[in-house]
Amino acid sequence: MNKQPSVARIKVELQEKGIRIPPELVGRLEAHYNAPAVSTGRIVVCLDSPKGDGELLPVFIVNGKRGAASPYQLTETSPGTFEVRKENAFYTNVTLIPRPPFYNRLTSGNIPMYKVAVIVGPGHLRSVVDQRCVYQQTGQACKFCAVQYWWNAAAVKQSEQVAETALAGYADGSVKHISMTTATLNTPDRGLANLVKTVKLIHAGAKIPMMLESEPLLDHALLKSLLLEAKANGVTSISINIECFDRELSPDIMPAKGKIPFAEYMKNWEIALNIFGKNEVSTVAVVGIGEDDASLLKGIETAASVGVMTFLVPHSPAVGAVFEDMEPPSAERMLALYEKAVGIYQKYGLDMCACTAGCVRGGGFSAIKDVARFGV
Ligand code: SF4
Repeated sequence: MNKQPSVARIKVELQEKGIRIPPELVGRLEAHYNAPAVSTGRIVVCLDSPKGDGELLPVFIVNGKRGAASPYQLTETSPGTFEVRKENAFYTNVTLIPRPPFYNRLTSGNIPMYKVAVIVGPGHLRSVVDQRCVYQQTGQACKFCAVQYWWNAAAVKQSEQVAETALAGYADGSVKHISMTTATLNTPDRGLANLVKTVKLIHAGAKIPMMLESEPLLDHALLKSLLLEAKANGVTSISINIECFDRELSPDIMPAKGKIPFAEYMKNWEIALNIFGKNEVSTVAVVGIGEDDASLLKGIETAASVGVMTFLVPHSPAVGAVFEDMEPPSAERMLALYEKAVGIYQKYGLDMCACTAGCVRGGGFSAIKDVARFGV
């Protein structure tokens, strides 16, 4: 009898290859499930926790160009019951989150709420509050990034609209925690001030744990004051994202952002750690953009040695990015890196599963938490 693959393996395999969605299923998914951008290449499916306790573990899949040729196909076996087949044989059961009621509502500016923030895992609301990156506008976009095209969304959202959406989702029971990020803006705060403004509006309406992501700020006093304000208004976790630890490679992959000195990351992480504390500060590294394992593991260890966990995400080539035709990293490579990263966190006494906001590290973007919890 074939052994059922682990949750982590299923996740990395689906993220590597994408998932074919039969055209006849698209309209039904959009109408009844949490799949507002399925026709533009993004879907979240959930796996059952191996503990058998009913917990659903999300898998965030970016299909890019490769999804149409994926060996994995989503199939509805009976109304509301889904499985994934691999080359027509059963691969895994999946659950689709029902379409949350707030998706049917409009913000005060008459924008459909599903274009303002989306559910990316059970209870997890996410918004890219501003999708107009200054580096995209100056021809210096990070080559793996297609933020301006993401995902059937309103590229520019007012903080008020994001807050209305978050509170509507909270009120209908579909939102338990929130993560927000922004493209980089041409301001000293790089967009973080707008996130903090949004946080304050949400916090005034409901006490929901929140997590923010940002580029490092060169103005450290400004960073400190914004992070303190964020913490006072419900933010429990922060990710200051490096994306590429290979500092020789990074200016090529990220012509603008890649030139930020590593020392700036260290300083920003230190400030964030002093405010949010252990296990609440992280960074993101994208795997499969030209770096080697040695640079990644060295970077993960350096960050961990000062108390920062690296959330490893596979490069999922997105349509519209410079790297849209790049091969994603293999599932085997991802699993091996996750195992090594988890070992590094254990060495430094860091807990990948302890993030108070329960957001990004528990989310569907990476299998690192699944490896930490259940192994490969
Ligand atoms: S990843 Fe790079 S290009 Fe994309 S939003 Fe961030 S800074 Fe801009």
